[in-house]
Amino acid sequence: MERVLVSACLLGRRVRYDGGAKTSEDELLAAWSSEGRVIPFCPEVAGGLPVPRPPAEIEGGAGGDAVLAGTARILTPDGDDVTEAFVAGARRALDAARAAGARVAILKEGSPSCGSLRVYDGTFSGNSTPGRGVTTALLEQHGIRVFNEDDIAGAARHLGER
Ligand code: SF4
Repeated sequence: MERVLVSACLLGRRVRYDGGAKTSEDELLAAWSSEGRVIPFCPEVAGGLPVPRPPAEIEGGAGGDAVLAGTARILTPDGDDVTEAFVAGARRALDAARAAGARVAILKEGSPSCGSLRVYDGTFSGNSTPGRGVTTALLEQHGIRVFNEDDIAGAARHLGER
C-alpha cells in the first residue's frame, strides 16, 4: 500500500499559526492512518517556524510558483519576510514524500504552504484567490499530485484504489 503525505494539522496536530489544528473526520483518511500509510507533515514547522506564529500570506496572492521562482515573497501582517522558511519547509516536504515513495499528498486548502485551489490574496482581509501554496507547487512540479481535505476520494482514485 502506498504512503501518503498529509498536512499534520488535518491529523489533529496543533501546528497551525494560531496554535490549533484542523482535524479531518474523513473515514478514508482515518483508515489510511490506521494502516500506517500516512506521513504527517507540517512544512511551516519543518521550515523552522514556531507554533504559534504570525499569519502569513503570499504578496499579491501570486501563488507558490511565483515564490519558488523568486518573484513573490511571503509576508506577515507586520511586513516580516518569511519566504525563506516557507521554501525550506517545501523542500523538506518534497524530501519526505520522495523518501516514502509517495505519489500523492493531502494538504490543507487555503494555506500559503498547503493550498491547492486557493490562497489568500496578500491583504490579510480574509479574501482568497485561485492559486496554490509553496509546498503544493513544489510537490506538483516534481510529479506528486496534491489533493485537499475535501477530495480525499480523488486521491484514492489517483492511486487506483477506487
Ligand atoms: S503549513 Fe500546512 S500542515 Fe502546517 S499548519 Fe499550515 S496548513 Fe497545516
